[in-house]
Amino acid sequence: MRIAILSRNTKLYSTRRLVEAAEKRGHEIKVLDTLKCYMDIACMRPSVHYKGVKLDPFDAVIPRIGASVTFYGAAVLRQFEMMGAYPLNESVAITRSRDKLRSLQILARAGIGLPLTGFANSPDNTQDLIKLVGGAPLVVKLLEGTQGKGVVLAETPKAAESLIEAFRELDVNFLVQEFIKEAGGSDIRALVIGDKVVAAMKRQAKDGEFRSNLHRGGSASIVKLTPEERSTAVRAARRLGLNVSGVDLLRSNHGPVVMEVNSSPGLEGIEKATDKNVADLIIQFIEQNAKPNRTRTRGKG
Ligand code: ADP
Ligand code: MG
Repeated sequence: MRIAILSRNTKLYSTRRLVEAAEKRGHEIKVLDTLKCYMDIACMRPSVHYKGVKLDPFDAVIPRIGASVTFYGAAVLRQFEMMGAYPLNESVAITRSRDKLRSLQILARAGIGLPLTGFANSPDNTQDLIKLVGGAPLVVKLLEGTQGKGVVLAETPKAAESLIEAFRELDVNFLVQEFIKEAGGSDIRALVIGDKVVAAMKRQAKDGEFRSNLHRGGSASIVKLTPEERSTAVRAARRLGLNVSGVDLLRSNHGPVVMEVNSSPGLEGIEKATDKNVADLIIQFIEQNAKPNRTRTRGKG
Protein backbone atom coordinates (compact mmCIF):
# COMPACT_ATOMS: atom_id res chain seq x y z
CA MET A 1 0.00 0.00 0.00
CA ARG A 2 0.96 3.61 -0.42
CA ILE A 3 0.63 5.33 2.94
CA ALA A 4 1.21 8.96 3.93
CA ILE A 5 1.85 10.23 7.44
CA LEU A 6 0.92 13.80 8.15
CA SER A 7 3.45 14.94 10.72
CA ARG A 8 5.45 18.08 11.35
CA ASN A 9 8.62 16.20 12.07
CA THR A 10 10.08 12.92 10.78
CA LYS A 11 12.25 12.60 13.87
CA LEU A 12 9.39 12.27 16.36
CA TYR A 13 9.27 8.87 18.03
CA SER A 14 5.71 8.07 16.90
CA THR A 15 6.40 9.07 13.31
CA ARG A 16 9.62 7.05 13.19
CA ARG A 17 7.96 3.98 14.65
CA LEU A 18 5.06 4.12 12.19
CA VAL A 19 7.47 4.45 9.25
CA GLU A 20 9.50 1.53 10.57
CA ALA A 21 6.43 -0.67 11.09
CA ALA A 22 4.96 0.14 7.67
CA GLU A 23 8.21 -0.54 5.86
CA LYS A 24 8.70 -3.79 7.73
CA ARG A 25 5.30 -4.89 6.51
CA GLY A 26 6.23 -4.06 2.91
CA HIS A 27 4.43 -0.76 2.42
CA GLU A 28 5.58 2.42 0.76
CA ILE A 29 5.32 5.20 3.31
CA LYS A 30 5.96 8.92 2.99
CA VAL A 31 6.09 11.51 5.75
CA LEU A 32 4.47 14.79 4.71
CA ASP A 33 4.91 17.95 6.74
CA THR A 34 1.28 18.91 7.29
CA LEU A 35 1.90 22.63 6.94
CA LYS A 36 3.78 22.19 3.66
CA CYS A 37 0.86 20.46 1.97
CA TYR A 38 -1.33 22.74 -0.10
CA MET A 39 -4.53 22.03 -1.88
CA ASP A 40 -6.23 22.48 -5.20
CA ILE A 41 -9.83 22.75 -4.09
CA ALA A 42 -11.68 24.40 -6.91
CA CYS A 43 -11.64 21.67 -9.50
CA MET A 44 -13.35 18.37 -10.28
CA ARG A 45 -10.34 16.36 -9.25
CA PRO A 46 -9.18 17.52 -5.83
CA SER A 47 -5.45 17.21 -5.28
CA VAL A 48 -2.74 17.84 -2.72
CA HIS A 49 0.53 19.46 -3.71
CA TYR A 50 3.80 19.25 -1.84
CA LYS A 51 6.97 21.22 -2.46
CA GLY A 52 5.88 22.14 -5.98
CA VAL A 53 4.73 18.66 -6.99
CA LYS A 54 1.23 17.22 -7.25
CA LEU A 55 1.11 14.11 -5.09
CA ASP A 56 0.06 10.74 -6.50
CA PRO A 57 -2.91 9.25 -4.66
CA PHE A 58 -2.38 7.42 -1.38
CA ASP A 59 -4.32 4.37 -0.19
CA ALA A 60 -4.23 5.53 3.41
CA VAL A 61 -3.26 8.58 5.43
CA ILE A 62 -2.12 8.55 9.05
CA PRO A 63 -2.86 11.94 10.58
CA ARG A 64 -0.52 12.97 13.39
CA ILE A 65 -1.86 16.45 13.78
CA GLY A 66 -0.64 18.51 16.71
CA ALA A 67 -3.12 20.61 18.65
CA SER A 68 -1.58 23.84 17.35
CA VAL A 69 -2.27 22.92 13.71
CA THR A 70 -5.71 21.33 14.06
CA PHE A 71 -7.42 23.74 11.68
CA TYR A 72 -4.96 23.44 8.82
CA GLY A 73 -4.26 19.76 9.44
CA ALA A 74 -7.95 18.88 9.30
CA ALA A 75 -8.26 20.72 5.99
CA VAL A 76 -5.34 18.78 4.50
CA LEU A 77 -6.74 15.49 5.74
CA ARG A 78 -10.19 16.36 4.38
CA GLN A 79 -8.62 16.92 0.99
CA PHE A 80 -7.04 13.44 1.08
CA GLU A 81 -10.41 12.02 2.09
CA MET A 82 -12.03 13.71 -0.90
CA MET A 83 -9.43 12.00 -3.07
CA GLY A 84 -10.55 8.62 -1.71
CA ALA A 85 -7.64 7.92 0.66
CA TYR A 86 -8.49 6.01 3.84
CA PRO A 87 -7.82 8.20 6.89
CA LEU A 88 -6.75 6.31 10.01
CA ASN A 89 -8.90 8.82 11.88
CA GLU A 90 -11.37 10.93 9.95
CA SER A 91 -11.01 14.70 9.89
CA VAL A 92 -14.44 15.28 11.45
CA ALA A 93 -13.65 12.92 14.31
CA ILE A 94 -10.36 14.70 14.95
CA THR A 95 -11.90 18.17 15.13
CA ARG A 96 -14.68 16.82 17.30
CA SER A 97 -12.26 15.26 19.78
CA ARG A 98 -10.06 18.39 19.95
CA ASP A 99 -12.81 20.34 21.64
CA LYS A 100 -13.00 19.04 25.21
CA LEU A 101 -16.45 20.45 25.83
CA ARG A 102 -17.94 19.07 22.65
CA SER A 103 -16.40 15.64 23.30
CA LEU A 104 -17.74 15.55 26.85
CA GLN A 105 -21.21 16.43 25.61
CA ILE A 106 -21.08 13.62 23.06
CA LEU A 107 -19.87 11.16 25.70
CA ALA A 108 -22.48 12.34 28.21
CA ARG A 109 -25.21 11.72 25.66
CA ALA A 110 -23.95 8.15 25.31
CA GLY A 111 -24.11 7.60 29.07
CA ILE A 112 -20.34 7.22 29.47
CA GLY A 113 -18.94 7.97 32.95
CA LEU A 114 -17.52 11.49 33.26
CA PRO A 115 -16.35 13.73 36.08
CA LEU A 116 -19.09 16.22 37.05
CA THR A 117 -18.43 19.07 34.65
CA GLY A 118 -19.86 22.56 34.22
CA PHE A 119 -19.45 25.26 31.61
CA ALA A 120 -20.67 28.83 31.83
CA ASN A 121 -20.19 32.16 30.20
CA SER A 122 -21.88 34.60 32.51
CA PRO A 123 -20.00 35.71 35.63
CA ASP A 124 -23.30 35.90 37.56
CA ASN A 125 -23.47 32.20 38.33
CA THR A 126 -20.03 31.36 39.60
CA GLN A 127 -21.31 30.15 42.96
CA ASP A 128 -23.86 27.87 41.36
CA LEU A 129 -21.31 26.58 38.87
CA ILE A 130 -19.06 25.61 41.79
CA LYS A 131 -21.98 23.88 43.48
CA LEU A 132 -22.82 22.01 40.26
CA VAL A 133 -19.52 20.14 40.33
CA GLY A 134 -19.75 19.38 44.04
CA GLY A 135 -17.83 22.37 45.41
CA ALA A 136 -14.10 22.76 46.05
CA PRO A 137 -11.63 21.24 45.52
CA LEU A 138 -12.28 21.50 41.80
CA VAL A 139 -10.37 21.67 38.55
CA VAL A 140 -10.54 24.48 36.01
CA LYS A 141 -9.54 23.52 32.48
CA LEU A 142 -8.91 25.43 29.28
CA LEU A 143 -10.96 23.89 26.49
CA GLU A 144 -8.06 23.49 24.11
CA GLY A 145 -5.14 22.92 26.44
CA THR A 146 -2.72 20.00 26.07
CA GLN A 147 0.06 18.43 28.11
CA GLY A 148 -1.55 19.57 31.32
CA LYS A 149 -0.79 23.22 30.63
CA GLY A 150 -4.30 24.58 30.94
CA VAL A 151 -5.37 22.54 33.97
CA VAL A 152 -5.46 24.15 37.41
CA LEU A 153 -6.57 22.84 40.81
CA ALA A 154 -8.48 25.09 43.21
CA GLU A 155 -8.37 23.57 46.68
CA THR A 156 -10.71 25.88 48.60
CA PRO A 157 -14.04 27.59 47.75
CA LYS A 158 -12.32 30.97 47.84
CA ALA A 159 -9.55 29.82 45.48
CA ALA A 160 -12.16 28.31 43.16
CA GLU A 161 -14.06 31.56 42.97
CA SER A 162 -10.97 33.70 42.34
CA LEU A 163 -9.65 31.27 39.77
CA ILE A 164 -12.89 31.20 37.81
CA GLU A 165 -13.05 34.98 37.90
CA ALA A 166 -9.46 35.28 36.73
CA PHE A 167 -9.97 32.85 33.84
CA ARG A 168 -13.05 34.82 32.83
CA GLU A 169 -11.04 38.05 32.70
CA LEU A 170 -8.70 36.34 30.25
CA ASP A 171 -11.60 35.79 27.88
CA VAL A 172 -10.79 32.13 27.25
CA ASN A 173 -13.11 29.13 27.16
CA PHE A 174 -12.78 26.84 30.15
CA LEU A 175 -14.73 24.23 31.99
CA VAL A 176 -15.07 23.55 35.68
CA GLN A 177 -14.75 19.97 36.84
CA GLU A 178 -15.11 17.83 39.90
CA PHE A 179 -11.63 17.00 41.25
CA ILE A 180 -11.23 13.23 41.41
CA LYS A 181 -9.10 13.21 44.53
CA GLU A 182 -9.23 9.46 44.98
CA ALA A 183 -7.28 9.02 41.71
CA GLY A 184 -4.27 10.09 43.80
CA GLY A 185 -2.53 11.95 40.99
CA SER A 186 -2.72 9.04 38.59
CA ASP A 187 -4.69 8.41 35.46
CA ILE A 188 -5.00 5.65 32.90
CA ARG A 189 -4.19 5.86 29.22
CA ALA A 190 -5.97 3.19 27.20
CA LEU A 191 -4.76 2.87 23.63
CA VAL A 192 -7.76 1.84 21.56
CA ILE A 193 -7.50 0.44 18.04
CA GLY A 194 -10.82 -0.42 16.41
CA ASP A 195 -12.91 -1.99 19.14
CA LYS A 196 -10.05 -3.17 21.35
CA VAL A 197 -7.83 -1.74 24.05
CA VAL A 198 -4.44 -2.94 22.77
CA ALA A 199 -2.28 -1.42 25.50
CA ALA A 200 -2.83 0.43 28.74
CA MET A 201 -0.60 2.31 31.14
CA LYS A 202 -1.00 4.05 34.43
CA ARG A 203 0.59 7.44 34.70
CA GLN A 204 1.52 8.75 38.12
CA ALA A 205 2.17 12.41 38.77
CA LYS A 206 5.41 13.34 40.45
CA ASP A 207 5.29 14.34 44.12
CA GLY A 208 3.32 17.47 44.86
CA GLU A 209 1.63 17.46 41.46
CA PHE A 210 -1.87 16.22 40.55
CA ARG A 211 -1.39 16.23 36.77
CA SER A 212 0.00 12.92 35.59
CA ASN A 213 1.05 14.06 32.10
CA LEU A 214 4.43 12.58 31.15
CA HIS A 215 5.33 16.07 29.90
CA ARG A 216 4.87 17.26 33.49
CA GLY A 217 7.28 14.68 34.87
CA GLY A 218 4.77 11.87 35.44
CA SER A 219 5.95 8.27 35.27
CA ALA A 220 4.31 5.42 33.40
CA SER A 221 3.85 1.75 34.16
CA ILE A 222 1.83 -1.09 32.68
CA VAL A 223 -1.62 -1.64 34.19
CA LYS A 224 -4.35 -4.22 33.87
CA LEU A 225 -7.75 -2.71 33.20
CA THR A 226 -11.03 -3.96 34.59
CA PRO A 227 -13.67 -5.06 32.06
CA GLU A 228 -15.63 -1.90 32.90
CA GLU A 229 -12.62 0.29 32.17
CA ARG A 230 -12.04 -1.48 28.87
CA SER A 231 -15.60 -1.12 27.72
CA THR A 232 -15.70 2.53 28.81
CA ALA A 233 -12.58 3.27 26.74
CA VAL A 234 -13.85 1.44 23.67
CA ARG A 235 -17.28 3.05 23.84
CA ALA A 236 -15.76 6.52 24.22
CA ALA A 237 -13.54 6.02 21.15
CA ARG A 238 -16.43 4.67 19.12
CA ARG A 239 -18.75 7.51 20.08
CA LEU A 240 -16.22 10.07 18.90
CA GLY A 241 -15.71 8.10 15.69
CA LEU A 242 -11.99 7.50 16.26
CA ASN A 243 -10.35 4.30 14.96
CA VAL A 244 -7.17 4.89 16.91
CA SER A 245 -7.14 6.92 20.07
CA GLY A 246 -5.74 7.36 23.53
CA VAL A 247 -8.56 7.41 26.05
CA ASP A 248 -7.66 8.97 29.39
CA LEU A 249 -9.56 7.67 32.39
CA LEU A 250 -9.58 8.40 36.09
CA ARG A 251 -10.43 5.75 38.67
CA SER A 252 -13.14 7.51 40.65
CA ASN A 253 -15.36 6.36 43.52
CA HIS A 254 -18.19 6.26 41.01
CA GLY A 255 -16.34 4.03 38.54
CA PRO A 256 -14.10 4.89 35.59
CA VAL A 257 -14.60 8.41 34.24
CA VAL A 258 -13.30 9.67 30.91
CA MET A 259 -11.26 12.85 30.98
CA GLU A 260 -10.40 13.15 27.35
CA VAL A 261 -9.85 11.23 24.15
CA ASN A 262 -6.75 11.96 22.10
CA SER A 263 -6.85 11.47 18.35
CA SER A 264 -3.06 11.46 17.84
CA PRO A 265 -1.88 9.49 20.87
CA GLY A 266 1.89 9.44 21.38
CA LEU A 267 3.45 6.00 21.04
CA GLU A 268 6.64 6.45 23.02
CA GLY A 269 5.21 6.34 26.54
CA ILE A 270 2.82 3.50 25.87
CA GLU A 271 5.21 1.30 23.85
CA LYS A 272 7.95 1.70 26.45
CA ALA A 273 5.67 1.12 29.43
CA THR A 274 3.91 -1.91 27.98
CA ASP A 275 6.50 -3.37 25.61
CA LYS A 276 3.79 -3.67 22.94
CA ASN A 277 4.39 -2.95 19.28
CA VAL A 278 1.53 -0.47 18.91
CA ALA A 279 2.90 0.94 15.64
CA ASP A 280 2.69 -2.50 14.04
CA LEU A 281 -0.89 -2.96 15.29
CA ILE A 282 -1.84 0.40 13.74
CA ILE A 283 -0.40 -0.63 10.36
CA GLN A 284 -2.23 -3.97 10.61
CA PHE A 285 -5.47 -2.09 11.28
CA ILE A 286 -4.89 -0.03 8.14
CA GLU A 287 -4.23 -3.19 6.11
CA GLN A 288 -7.55 -4.62 7.25
CA ASN A 289 -9.61 -1.46 6.78
CA ALA A 290 -8.13 0.73 4.08
CA LYS A 291 -10.44 -0.23 1.26
CA PRO A 292 -11.55 2.48 -1.20
CA ASN A 293 -14.52 4.49 0.05
CA ARG A 294 -14.51 2.91 3.47
CA THR A 295 -14.63 6.24 5.26
CA ARG A 296 -17.91 7.43 6.64
CA THR A 297 -17.68 11.08 5.70
CA ARG A 298 -15.09 11.45 2.91
CA GLY A 299 -14.46 14.96 4.14
CA LYS A 300 -18.14 15.91 4.31
CA GLY A 301 -19.65 17.44 7.41
P1 ADP B 1 -4.47 17.85 29.01
O1 ADP B 1 -5.22 17.78 27.73
O2 ADP B 1 -3.74 19.13 29.16
O3 ADP B 1 -3.63 16.64 29.22
P2 ADP B 1 -6.26 16.73 30.99
O4 ADP B 1 -7.71 17.00 31.06
O5 ADP B 1 -5.86 15.42 30.43
O6 ADP B 1 -5.57 17.91 30.16
O7 ADP B 1 -5.64 16.91 32.44
C1 ADP B 1 -4.25 16.76 32.72
C2 ADP B 1 -4.02 15.88 33.95
O8 ADP B 1 -4.60 16.48 35.10
C3 ADP B 1 -4.69 14.53 33.84
O9 ADP B 1 -3.86 13.60 33.19
C4 ADP B 1 -4.96 14.16 35.30
O10 ADP B 1 -3.82 13.57 35.89
C5 ADP B 1 -5.20 15.51 35.94
N1 ADP B 1 -6.64 15.79 35.99
C6 ADP B 1 -7.38 16.39 35.02
N2 ADP B 1 -8.67 16.50 35.36
C7 ADP B 1 -8.78 15.98 36.60
C8 ADP B 1 -9.87 15.79 37.51
N3 ADP B 1 -11.11 16.21 37.19
N4 ADP B 1 -9.61 15.20 38.69
C9 ADP B 1 -8.36 14.77 39.00
N5 ADP B 1 -7.30 14.92 38.20
C10 ADP B 1 -7.48 15.51 37.01
MG1 MG C 1 -4.42 14.69 29.05
